[in-house]
Amino acid sequence: MPRAAAPPPAAVTARVRSLYRRLLRHYGAQGWWPADDPFEMMIGAVLVQNTAWANARLAVAALQRAGLLDWRRLARSAPDRIAKVIRPAGTYRVKARRVSALARHVAAHGGLDALGVLPTPVLREGLLRVHGIGAETADAILVYAFARPGVVLDAYTRRLCARLGLAPTAHARGDAALRVLIEHALPHDAAVHGEFHALIVAHAKARCRTRAICHACPLRRGCAFAAGACAAPDAEAVDCPPAVAAGVEIDSHPFSAD
Ligand code: SF4
Repeated sequence: MPRAAAPPPAAVTARVRSLYRRLLRHYGAQGWWPADDPFEMMIGAVLVQNTAWANARLAVAALQRAGLLDWRRLARSAPDRIAKVIRPAGTYRVKARRVSALARHVAAHGGLDALGVLPTPVLREGLLRVHGIGAETADAILVYAFARPGVVLDAYTRRLCARLGLAPTAHARGDAALRVLIEHALPHDAAVHGEFHALIVAHAKARCRTRAICHACPLRRGCAFAAGACAAPDAEAVDCPPAVAAGVEIDSHPFSAD
């Protein structure tokens, strides 16, 4: 029988909790997901793949105007018709097939209420079998549409945690370790997990970009990347003032003074 993974060290989980508090204090509650109902959220999660939310929102609004923001109607609609409506989301033919597949998945289960009583692992497995739904989209749907606690691991989360020195960068065990770390650190609460993901996206767009803007960053104290002590990708791109770029001490509990 496989042994359960050892829990992450308490000091590391404390840093994740501190990361959450700091981001929340700096950016405020993000109010995700911006959707009127769970099905709209699910469709938005597909439409936002590889595009900006502004484009996805236009496509969601177009579906609404066309009377197609409804799983029954969408499941009966030809992908060609859906594609014409969702053009603003980009790669609209690909996304039309995905949206259609997702609507048919809901229909095959008898609707959202029937899906909503499934255990989380069953619900997740089912979503992952839908054409065009990967782990990130499935986990976002679980958290925001079905209020299931869970970690939404995306490129922003991996990059931020790598830069902070919280997790290894991209290799096979990285995601599993990061997931375990966040699950241990945060309460088993979909609202908290949803807020954490939204805050990380806000921070990744505002400061922790490919070329990080580290000056005045709320996480700079204790950030391994800003201190020049981290081998995360893009280490050469950091845009720090000289005092920071020259190196700061990283203590073993960098966020413990929160
Ligand atoms: S200090 Fe720089 S690298 Fe560290 S979290 Fe902030 S923006 Fe990202």
